Parts: sequence; C-alpha cells; structure tokens
Amino acid sequence: MSPTTAPAADALHRVFGYDAFRGDQAEIIDHVIRGGDALVLMPTGGGKSLCYQIPALVREGTGVVISPLIALMQDQVDALAALGVRAAFLNSTQGAEERARVERAYVAGELDLLYLAPERLTVPSTGDLLDRGTIALFAIDEAHCVSQWGHDFRPDYLALSMLHERWPSVPRIALTATATEQTHREIQKRLQLGDARHFVASFDRPNIQYRIVPKDQPLKQLLELLRTEHAGDAGIVYCLSRASVEKTAEFLVEQGIPALPYHAGLDARVRAANQARFLREDGMVMVATIAFGMGIDKPDVRFVAHLDLPKSVEGYYQETGRAGRDGLPSTAWLAYGLQDVVQQRRMIDQSEGDLAHRRRLSAHLDAMLALCETVQCRRMQLLAYFGEQSTACGNCDTCLNPPESWDGTVPAQKLLSTIVRLQRERNQKFGAGHLIDILLGRQTPRVDQNGHDDLATFGIGTELSESEWRGVVRQLLAQGLLAVNSDGFGTLVITDASAGVLDGSRKVGLRREPERTSTRSARKSKSAGADLPTELQPLFETLREWRAAEAKEQGVPAYVIFHDATLRELATRHPSTVKELGTVTGVGESKLAKYGEQLLEVLGMAAVSAP
Ligand code: ADP
Ligand code: ZN
Repeated sequence: MSPTTAPAADALHRVFGYDAFRGDQAEIIDHVIRGGDALVLMPTGGGKSLCYQIPALVREGTGVVISPLIALMQDQVDALAALGVRAAFLNSTQGAEERARVERAYVAGELDLLYLAPERLTVPSTGDLLDRGTIALFAIDEAHCVSQWGHDFRPDYLALSMLHERWPSVPRIALTATATEQTHREIQKRLQLGDARHFVASFDRPNIQYRIVPKDQPLKQLLELLRTEHAGDAGIVYCLSRASVEKTAEFLVEQGIPALPYHAGLDARVRAANQARFLREDGMVMVATIAFGMGIDKPDVRFVAHLDLPKSVEGYYQETGRAGRDGLPSTAWLAYGLQDVVQQRRMIDQSEGDLAHRRRLSAHLDAMLALCETVQCRRMQLLAYFGEQSTACGNCDTCLNPPESWDGTVPAQKLLSTIVRLQRERNQKFGAGHLIDILLGRQTPRVDQNGHDDLATFGIGTELSESEWRGVVRQLLAQGLLAVNSDGFGTLVITDASAGVLDGSRKVGLRREPERTSTRSARKSKSAGADLPTELQPLFETLREWRAAEAKEQGVPAYVIFHDATLRELATRHPSTVKELGTVTGVGESKLAKYGEQLLEVLGMAAVSAP
C-alpha cells in the first residue's frame, strides 16, 4: 500500500462510512494527495466528489472548490457538515458579515473545504484572501463549463487558467460528467492541464433504462408513464419552452401528481423555492427547461422524461444522467415526433451566429436524430458517441422490444416525387401535413383551392395511415433524404441525397413504429423499496418516515440524513448494536454518533412488533 492511501482509506470509512473505493477513485485520490494535477471524466453518480473531498481532508490546508452551482452550495455544505466535515462557501448571495466570518475561518485554517463561485476568483481581493491561508488543492467542478462547444458554457470559467499561473505548486483536479472528445480537449487546453493525468471512466449508467417513443399525445403518454411505472416517485420532466413547462406542470397537478415548474422566466425566489421543495420533499416532479438540473445531486430521481427533442446527445445524456445517481433502477424516457424535427431545424436556420455555428448546431441535432431513429441498442449508440465500445445492453427499449425495419423505398419515392412535382409544376412548397393529405387523397379545402387532386401522386399513398406517413417523413428528415426549407414556414424540400432514392439506385430502410402498448413490457414500479422482499417493506417504510421527520426538523433534504441505499441495507441487515450499525454503507462516525441510538430504537421496535 502506498503511504498516501492509508489516510485516504481511513477518511473513506470514518467520515463517509463506505467500505471501498469505486473505479478509479483510489488512484485519482492518491495522485492528487501526492500533488499531481488530474482531469477526471466520470458520469453523473460515478463518485466524483470524493475525488477532491478526500484529498482535501488528507492534505494540509483547505480544498478550494470552484463551482458554478451557487444555488446548491448551501446544500453541499450542509451535506458535508452532516458528515462532520468543516465546509463553507463564498458567493454573491451572502451578506458582508457572513462572508467575513467564512474568510476568517479560512485564514485560521479551520476549513476543510471552501466552495467558490468562479466570478469571485476574478475579484483581486479573493486571490489575496487565498494567499493568507493554505490551499490544499483546487477542484474545478463542472469543468465542461469552460467549453464553448458544450451546452453549459460560462465565460467566467475561462479565467480559471489563472489558477495555474498564480499558484503553480497547488494541485488541480478538474471534473466533469461530459465526455465528448471535443469537450475533453477543450478542458485540457483552456485550463492548461496538459501535464495532468487524465482519468476517463466508463460512461455507462447500467441502472438507467433508455426509452424513446414516437410522440402522439405527449401529456397523456407522460401521465401513463407516471401512473403505471413511477407512482409516488421523484422525477424531472424536461420541456423546450417556458409555456410548455407551465402547461405541463398545471396538467400534472390537475391529475393529482405533485409537480412544480422551473424556468428562467420565473422570479428567482420562486425558482429557489421550487428547487428546495423538489430536493426536500419526497415524490416531487419538477417540470423544467434545461435551465434546471446541473449539479442537482438528489440521488433518488427515479425518472427523467423529455417531452421535446433535446438539441444534442451531450445535453440528453447530461439530463437523463440526473436519474438514478443512487444506482437503483431508473427510467430515461423521451417522446419525439415530426414536429420536433421541423421546429429544431427552423430554430437552427433562424439562430444568430455564423455559418460555422449553425453547422455545429446541425451536427448536434443530426446525432440526436440518429439516436432516436436507431434500430440498434440505444446504449451502444450513446456510448459509441462518447467513443466507448459496448454490446447490446438488454435494458433499453430497442433491446427489450426490437423494432422491425422495413423497406420504405416506395413510400419515400411517393413522398419525394410529390414534393418535386409541386415544385416543378406549380412552383409551390408545403409542410408535412398537406403533403400527407395529398398522398392520402383527402379533399381538404387547401387541396381544392390549389387543384392538387390533379397531381399524379394524389391518393397514391393509402397503404399507410397518417401517423405512419408522419413516421416516414420524420425518418427521411433524420436520414438527410428530406430537409426543412429555410423559409421559416417549415416547408419540406428534397436534398442532394434524395436523387438516388427517386431514380431507384438507393434503398430506404425505415423502422416500424412500435405499438403504443409496447411500454407495458417494461418494468413495473421502480420505487426504492419496491424490490425488497415483501416482509422487509414495512420496515423500509418506517425508516423512510423516520428520515422524513428528521429531515423536516433540520430543514435539509432527506438524502442528507441517509440515502435510500443505506435505508435498504438497514432494513435487510437489521443491525442491533452500535458496532454493527457502524459497518452499514453510508454510516460514518459523525452520523453514527448523531443517529445511532435513534436508529437502534426504530429497528428495535420493528423487531418487537414483527410477527
Ligand atoms: P458525481 O458527483 O460523480 O455525480 P457523487 O460524488 O455525488 O457523484 O457520488 C454519487 C453517489 O455515490 C453518492 O451518493 C456518493 O455518496 C456515492 N459514492 C461515491 N463513492 C462511493 C464509494 N466509494 N462507496 C459507496 N458510495 C459511494
Ligand atoms: Zn440496449
């Protein structure tokens, strides 16, 4: 054993109550304790925090954590305090007096960890303050915020290269859950981490079940998912617009599901209050734009649902990654339809920025569409996107319910030639709805007005239903065989690649839309205690009630008291002595001292009342 790992292992047991390091944790921690720089790419829930928290405890001085998550600093500090770790933060939400108190504690060497918002570092007095104490290390959390390619760019992060210049001998550890090559390279370059050791973990999240379904009646579909599989569970529903966030949250509340809205248009106080309720109360559903979620370390989010198509695979993976940090089964569910593609293409066309920027947005969208339309394992495709090879996972919709593919060449030709005829013969362009009406031979007012029943393709597509046609259009768009015109009206045009389809030299493989009912084959309720043996469930519930009461009294989220995984182990192992209790995962010294007796009492009463 190397000389540095002994104190690290000691901190792991004593402070955090865990048996063993996971994955690369031991190596990363060892490297940083010895003063090395590290760049850590690990998925959400992988255990990044310990990678800097333990070195901060072991090395002399205070670990300085740069984090953009101002709204969450209080919770992070509370969670550490519950473990007996001396932590504090400095950010713009504090009054002068509180700030002065934290600064004094830092200078006096009374802090293990100090969380700083990035903009504070650019204030000269902050540098002087840091020089008056001892810096154990710098941890740069959410390091992908330095990347302009990514989706969370924060200009303040660019200034973080100064850490290396001003404090060259202080080790730095940058951490992120974003895994693409571009982001990786950009972090290395912009944070001057060229000499750092890189630790890249697998990004697989095996406990998350990925499902992507055709969007039909999104609210109804969502409700069915929540009622049949996630009753009483906490989860996040992502929508693209503020209006749909409001509408969806209202709908869920009307249906008796506790839901709250979150978007940038809400007053900051309302946002903070909703976030706090989501973190503190059990079984809350947060309906949000992507403004919500970064750094939310609630471990028991059981589902993440997307009602609109995410703009990139990175974004999608980040957002879905917020499910199941505790490692228990969770669902990532996305409903996506033709309108999503049209809308996003239109948004890209109208977006500000140069051609290169629009190309980048377009490339992101194409990768996302490819994921939606794949007949392969979703997880394989996701991991391949992050450069990881894998085999079919058995826990995604395409594995559980393999979609059929069919030869869609003839329908594609019918659709494309309708578009070509309208363009050539009438100099007209239309959106999907009218094109489908023509193919189905419907005498709509617009057909009458334009005399489109004279077209050679009028009524030649009755072998498919309207929704099947929408699937064809959507898939042709995704495959680049059809494009949304940049006129802003969402009209459809052919592409260079369409020619091969029209002249018969190129076949079109399409995926058959699964039946609406297919989700039934998925697992039933995934609530944390549901898969415990029936006889243990009452005890698990009793422990949850005890935890809820304790959390309420202290005004902290329940998981700050104990995670579900700890409650499960308590229910299964049923410890009856303080010593035994101390060996349960997640029960460290501080929590043992604080809750040991109460827990033994709760467990003891359960033993007495057991039949
Ligand atoms: P990340 O920041 O990478 O998303 P966290 O640091 O929040 O992940 O860790 C995810 C969960 O795993 C937390 O509940 C944490 O307490 C737990 N955890 C981390 N490392 C270990 C370990 N070695 N043993 C047991 N649990 C761990
Ligand atoms: Zn799979």
